[in-house]
Amino acid sequence: MDINETNQHNASFNYFAKESLKKASEQNAILAQIAHKTERKLKLRWILAISCLPLFGIYTAFGLAPQTMIGTIQTAAVVEEITLPQAADSTTTIAEQNFWYKEHVRRDDTFNTVLSRLNIHNREAINFIHTDSVASEITSSLRPSRNIEAQTDNEGNLISLKYQLDSDQFIAIKQTATGYEASKIVQKFESRPILKSAEISSSLFGATDAANIPDYIAVQIAEMFESEIDFTKDLRRGDHLSVIYEGNYNQGELLKTGDVLAAEFVNNGKIYQAIGYRDESGKMQYYTPDGKSLHKSFLRSPLEFSRISSSFSSGRFHPILQRLKAHKGTDFAAPTGTRVKASGDAKVDFVGVKGGYGNVVVLKHDSGISTVYGHLSRFAAGLSRGDKVVQGDIIGYVGTTGMSTGPHLHYEFLVNGVHRDPMTVALPKSFPITGQDKVAFDAVSSQLTAQIKLLGNSNIAALE
Ligand SMILES: [Zn+2]
Repeated sequence: MDINETNQHNASFNYFAKESLKKASEQNAILAQIAHKTERKLKLRWILAISCLPLFGIYTAFGLAPQTMIGTIQTAAVVEEITLPQAADSTTTIAEQNFWYKEHVRRDDTFNTVLSRLNIHNREAINFIHTDSVASEITSSLRPSRNIEAQTDNEGNLISLKYQLDSDQFIAIKQTATGYEASKIVQKFESRPILKSAEISSSLFGATDAANIPDYIAVQIAEMFESEIDFTKDLRRGDHLSVIYEGNYNQGELLKTGDVLAAEFVNNGKIYQAIGYRDESGKMQYYTPDGKSLHKSFLRSPLEFSRISSSFSSGRFHPILQRLKAHKGTDFAAPTGTRVKASGDAKVDFVGVKGGYGNVVVLKHDSGISTVYGHLSRFAAGLSRGDKVVQGDIIGYVGTTGMSTGPHLHYEFLVNGVHRDPMTVALPKSFPITGQDKVAFDAVSSQLTAQIKLLGNSNIAALE
């Protein structure tokens, strides 16, 4: 296991620890709610039972799902005939309870371990999930951190289940009078912008954590300003950031965050702004407020910005082979496993082992430009010669293969076979917005710029 994966493990362990605490209290609340409901239900049931007695004996209801949990699943009351109790013995009836279990799929889970945490033990349910065409997708799609929740009775018989496939859809299973039924349900979103601002005191993630901004958004910010700000080195205490991003809600609950719509970063007194505008393919592209593209034909750093790489001290790296063949590249110190991105659109020219480079990828770009990525621990799965990659695609992972003394990425930039400094030679590809798009963009831009300005001002006000 490499360092990166260990860190991710720890991160996810902490995450799960936090989640399970949260879950425990949620579960308690749910159980309390159920207990309360059951009690009330029982009283009602007895009244009903007594009033119906002369007509058709006693019926009791099972499988009433509390509505708070699965709003969109139709709940059905399964009515089952029972024999009359010998005496008016209410204590045995009170033992009839349903339980809700809310879980996350864990990294080392199998389908059986998930079932046992959810307290699902009846053969009929387990067979159904394995064989039903809709339900069986659960077994083939278990991924860490996905939500799964189930309602069972006190003997472990499944009553209903909900499995989150992705942020847009889930699989629902319910018990009916004739057996189990499964369906795939698509959730409807309501999209609303989320406005946040944060002051930097130590790192980008420190600031975004404090402001409760998701990592996914922090990484987008780092990437959109990549050519201007090195978020691992350039940040100053007192820098600040304002961001507007998409939030997708379902019944008031934030289910998913989308793209950054606009961002402003003040670094060392200098203001950087980005306005998002979707191209015709639906991909969000970023521009300056007056419509100049922030897209560069080559990334400054081919390393993916992440919580792990951002906190990695480059001081630990001592390349004794800097002089190797009059060292013609740039060395980026980073923990093993850090993801390496294609710095520009290209065709894969070489994937394999080559002398001192160890595991190396060579990419061929337009205009006679090639880029080289050395000492990789491994390659992106399936990457092979002739493949087309676009800027930002993951091509491999940092390692220390070949002639290397510590984990780092050795990066070379060549123009017609001659080594060049990628920082000075890579010219920005300028795609200013024009025509019809420019009109639409200007409207979006002036609105977002005004909002960002307000956010920035309130940030300053808060500091005073
Ligand atoms: Zn090197």
